[in-house]
Amino acid sequence: MLEEICKHFVEHAEVLRNANHAMLKSSFGTASIRLQDRKLLIDLNCRSEHGLQMFRTSLAEHLFYFAGETDFDLEWSQPVSAALLPNLHEVTVTGVEDVTPHMRRVKVRCADVGPFIGGDMHVRILVLPKGRQPVWPRYRENGRIAWPDGEDELLVRAYTIRAVDVEREELWIDFFQHPMPGVTTPGADFASNCQIGDRLGLLGPGSGGLPVSSRIPLVGDESALPAIARIIAEVAPGTQIEAIIEVEDSREEQSLSTEGTLKVRWLHRKAYAPGAQHVLAQQAKAAIIASSPHTFVWVACEKEEARSVRSLLKSRKHDKKSMYVAWYWERDAGQSV
Ligand SMILES: Cc1cc2nc3c(=O)[nH]c(=O)nc-3n(C[C@H](O)[C@H](O)[C@H](O)COP(=O)(O)OP(=O)(O)OC[C@H]3O[C@@H](n4cnc5c(N)ncnc54)[C@H](O)[C@@H]3O)c2cc1C
Repeated sequence: MLEEICKHFVEHAEVLRNANHAMLKSSFGTASIRLQDRKLLIDLNCRSEHGLQMFRTSLAEHLFYFAGETDFDLEWSQPVSAALLPNLHEVTVTGVEDVTPHMRRVKVRCADVGPFIGGDMHVRILVLPKGRQPVWPRYRENGRIAWPDGEDELLVRAYTIRAVDVEREELWIDFFQHPMPGVTTPGADFASNCQIGDRLGLLGPGSGGLPVSSRIPLVGDESALPAIARIIAEVAPGTQIEAIIEVEDSREEQSLSTEGTLKVRWLHRKAYAPGAQHVLAQQAKAAIIASSPHTFVWVACEKEEARSVRSLLKSRKHDKKSMYVAWYWERDAGQSV
């Protein structure tokens, strides 16, 4: 287990390891994990109660995942109350509009937009089953999340807060419409079917903070376009941005405003040669090769493409703190209708 924890958390935290002990330093605080008499003794030291809850839950979820089918118990010295998650926001749809033919913007009213300003920009949307009153997730005693099931099961998908309208207390989320014959697309469908007044849960914000650097190459497809647009809109004046964005055709291009200097190269999938593959990843790699190992690199796209960009960065020993490479979707991962 200790091995698994270290291997996994190296992507998210600074990990220090010796034979029977691991220390994880994350944005929430530190976790000291000691192996003793076939038990793991975990000490969490966090900057805030909120951070403590988040770190405890993250460790609990991972530990049970690593334990798999093996019997595994987890007890915390301070009891975990069955409270709602502190980063859960119930929001209400206030508007829906098409930004481009395949990008639909949903605006939601949120009682507390404060946590969404600056900082992390990703959320998990929790879509209620049709006609059901909300039953939101709570904590279990072992720190894991108890998700509602059966008729109350929620649809969960990761999305980006495209913009925060503080005056109107609204958050904007842009949903790429990617219809797939024979496959359900429930996340995208939420945006195409939702009505003003519909309720939605947002869990977050978390992960994927706004990068701070004087020069940032940004690379992504439509799923990353909301994040790219937000970064461009919120960078410090003078930041140099070079964006490579892959969309279907020119009708999917968006106008992007910034206080930095911006060069955008739009790639049109429709114009690719038949059979062309991983064009975006190739363009990302060319941009990386042309930049220094300390340039902050931001890439988000399909799983295989993101993985190939990550391995190039690894082979070039690119500074880990100067990169955000994430896969936002997985090809052929859908459920048949
Ligand atoms: C941190 C993070 C932030 C994200 N932010 C956004 C965002 O702001 N806006 C946004 O639109 N997406 C965003 N995504 C991507 C989004 O979560 C996925 O596209 C998700 O799979 C959509 O769910 P779905 O129910 O529509 O389709 P799924 O049920 O997940 O998949 C159904 C089928 O559609 C295909 N598919 C899924 N996504 C895409 C795609 N983007 N392009 C082509 N085919 C696809 C799958 O391969 C599958 O065959 C984000 C992802 C992450 C991890």
